[in-house]
Amino acid sequence: MMKYIYPFEEGNKDMRQLLGGKGANLAQMTNLGLPVPSGFTISTEACNAFYENHNQLSDDLLDQIHRAVAALSAKVGKTFNSSTAPLLVSVRSGAAISMPGMMDTILNIGLNDQTVIALANLTANERFAYDSYRRLLAMFGNVVYGISEATFDGVIEKRKADQGYQSDLDLTVNDLQEIVSEFKTIYQKELNHEFPQDPTDQLMAAINSVFESWNNHRAQVYRRENDIPSDLGTAVNVQMMVFGNAGEDSGTGVAFTRDPATGKKQLFGEYLLNAQGEDVVAGIRTPQPIETLRSSMPHLYDQFATIAEKLELHYRDMQDLEFTIENGKLYMLQARNGKRTPTAAVKIAVDLVSEKLISKQEAIMRIKPESVQAILYPEFDEQALAENKIVASGLPASPGAATGQIYFTAESAKKAHDDQHRKVILVRQDTSPEDIEGMVVSEAIVTSRGGMTSHAAVVARGMGTPATVGVNGLQVNYQTKTATISGNQLHEGDWLSVDGTHGNLYLGQIKTTDLTVNDDLATLLDWAKDEARLGVYANADTPKDFAQALNFGADGIGLARTEHMFFKPERLLEMRRLIIAEDAEGRKTPLKRLLEMQRGDFYELYKLSKGRSVTIRLLDPPLHEFLPHDEKEIKAVAAQLGIDPDYLAQRVDALKELNPMLGHRGDRLAVTFPDIYQMQIQAIMGAALQLLDEGIIIEPHIMIPLTDSKAEMSWVRDLVVNQIEDLFDAHNAKLEYTVGTMMEMPRACLTADKVAEVSDFFSFGTNDLTQLTFGYSRDDVGSFMPAYIKEGILPADPFQTVDVEGVGALMKMAVDKGRFTKPQLPIGVCGEIGGDPKSIHFFEAIGVTYVSCSPFRVPVARLAAAQAHLSAKRPIEQAAGVKAH
Ligand code: PEP
Ligand code: MG
Repeated sequence: MMKYIYPFEEGNKDMRQLLGGKGANLAQMTNLGLPVPSGFTISTEACNAFYENHNQLSDDLLDQIHRAVAALSAKVGKTFNSSTAPLLVSVRSGAAISMPGMMDTILNIGLNDQTVIALANLTANERFAYDSYRRLLAMFGNVVYGISEATFDGVIEKRKADQGYQSDLDLTVNDLQEIVSEFKTIYQKELNHEFPQDPTDQLMAAINSVFESWNNHRAQVYRRENDIPSDLGTAVNVQMMVFGNAGEDSGTGVAFTRDPATGKKQLFGEYLLNAQGEDVVAGIRTPQPIETLRSSMPHLYDQFATIAEKLELHYRDMQDLEFTIENGKLYMLQARNGKRTPTAAVKIAVDLVSEKLISKQEAIMRIKPESVQAILYPEFDEQALAENKIVASGLPASPGAATGQIYFTAESAKKAHDDQHRKVILVRQDTSPEDIEGMVVSEAIVTSRGGMTSHAAVVARGMGTPATVGVNGLQVNYQTKTATISGNQLHEGDWLSVDGTHGNLYLGQIKTTDLTVNDDLATLLDWAKDEARLGVYANADTPKDFAQALNFGADGIGLARTEHMFFKPERLLEMRRLIIAEDAEGRKTPLKRLLEMQRGDFYELYKLSKGRSVTIRLLDPPLHEFLPHDEKEIKAVAAQLGIDPDYLAQRVDALKELNPMLGHRGDRLAVTFPDIYQMQIQAIMGAALQLLDEGIIIEPHIMIPLTDSKAEMSWVRDLVVNQIEDLFDAHNAKLEYTVGTMMEMPRACLTADKVAEVSDFFSFGTNDLTQLTFGYSRDDVGSFMPAYIKEGILPADPFQTVDVEGVGALMKMAVDKGRFTKPQLPIGVCGEIGGDPKSIHFFEAIGVTYVSCSPFRVPVARLAAAQAHLSAKRPIEQAAGVKAH
């Protein structure tokens, strides 16, 4: 017989896989001697067995549950159905990886028409007993039978309105008894049968439903979003109830051992007196900050603070705690590593290192690389902000600033985002787990109700999405699809600006600022740099981008796409003059002008580099990309150039290609128009020589695009080297330099040993390499890629994450062959996937030397590179011999 049940005394924190996070932690807390209500955990294996058994609890499991309940009864001295000491339990889900609010929970199992009276007698609190009973009826009806919460809420709201009550607390015993009886009628009406009175029947049905909730829609969406495997299953925790709603000396709350928004070291949380857990999370009543417990119940606050500290030291991480006070006695209901904003995650990791609780390596491993992008939170531009008035304020639930168009349902937000590519802001009274798909696509989230631990706040922080919750003066009307903010009526699609750092709202659009790296992130990135083997460079072609990249810690430039320097109007004009020229003579003047401009650009980049490596790629795109295409544009450009429009139209036509990305581009241009590459070499080396005159030594790295063979590379290399040597002679000076190639043609990878003979370095252009390996046009994949991913034909978009099996195999072959010829050959990756964390693990494994990515991804790539190296199986020394140039 398989063991499916573990009393809390038998587990520990290392048994997450089997007991789920909640179960493992309840067991751990029990074993630490903390005040935890007794109970047992039904394992995740039981959940998987449940699914194998056609969603039925097997006889074996039923038998084990009966025995576990009997043991629990004996331990706590309470039994199901007892009229003197009735046993009441909670039934909660708990997976190995936390999925907050996604699965079901039922409290107060064991209450029925008899035990409610027993509970009332026992506690001398009739109101509490009936309040608990009505909660069970509603939760059970919703979770087990799918009766909508609104059906039950409607009864309560009506009664409150009829009696003129403001709050649930105004409901009298008589009201609650009436409500219980109306709830029972709902069962009859909706289900044609009664609410099950037998506690054992209630328990079994509840366990059944919790297992089933593992596969509900929102849990599936959450798992997909968070890469959680769907075969883990959930555990179920059955625990003796303690009551936070037993009177004014009772209460319930949640607290974090550090501020989950900022990471600051201080107890942070909130509680409600005379309430049960869901009242805090649902945001129906506004909770009190935990600080006020210090004055209202000082000894309990001290006991709780001591426990919180003990747990943090024990788990060596910030804890998210749930507690209940029953008649003045504190119980711990949950401890788990707390969800936090990316900002807080970095601060906490760095602080825990200085508190000597974790190592620098552990701090690096704890941060999800993609999440650091969110730390570089945009804020509203100060000047733009000064011109706007705060229209309303709420709680600053999740930092960052965003502007977008408002939508009132998750569905309409998702539709506007997916179909119309809008930047959307979800504005609601409150959110619930059903809204997850709308929240994922939102730039910001705003709610009129709720506190810092409401669903909207917790989820937004987890996703790094700005959020302002509990906004005073905001009313949302779902029927009319309007919201009123401090008297201003807004409709779906109107613009709103949300400052989640300060909790403010503004009407209309506001510009956001550039991003910066805060001190904690800078510290973490420094550590990551020490631990990483891969270098991290930026794809940057302007001083502004380069400065941004340096600010984010880039090692230099891995790819400057020189064609991007030609898009300013005066340059484009010269470029066009160059392209339509019919011979070398006609190209001379525009080339001379372009030379001056490019030399200035390279001079600026080199100056900024302060000795860091700068790799410049020669002209790559098909020339016709620079030309006007329709008649109107052709006329305008002809006028600018002072030429006949018909002549221009004729030149445009002559340059047209059927497959431009496979056509006259890259180093093929060098072969047909050598003077263009010669001009670029003069600009690159001219700038370096100019700096040499100023006493600054630069070693230019020149990169040739689209190479497919040794012969081609050799031809272009000769062109480049001859031009450089001529310049050195003319200048009577010399500089070190390298000439390398992009590896973006499959043929180049297949013959990499030969190509390496004439290349000083390789850099994988994975955009073109992926395009050519799959035969997917990189500019047209949008029409079929989503279907390929949805159908599972591709595991991910190979333009975003390396296709290890195909493109990856070519890359590995090129690395091995290249290094066979030149063991020290530096090899980079400068396509889009250079900044992708998953791909970086693969690049580490095949011995790539460096990656290069857009400036904003530099911090992400740096962390991923450190993590890849720290988790790599192979010894550090093996890959360390090869340095980036
Ligand atoms: C590439 O192909 O991956 C690359 C970096 O070059 P580009 O995107 O400019 O073609
Ligand atoms: Mg390319």
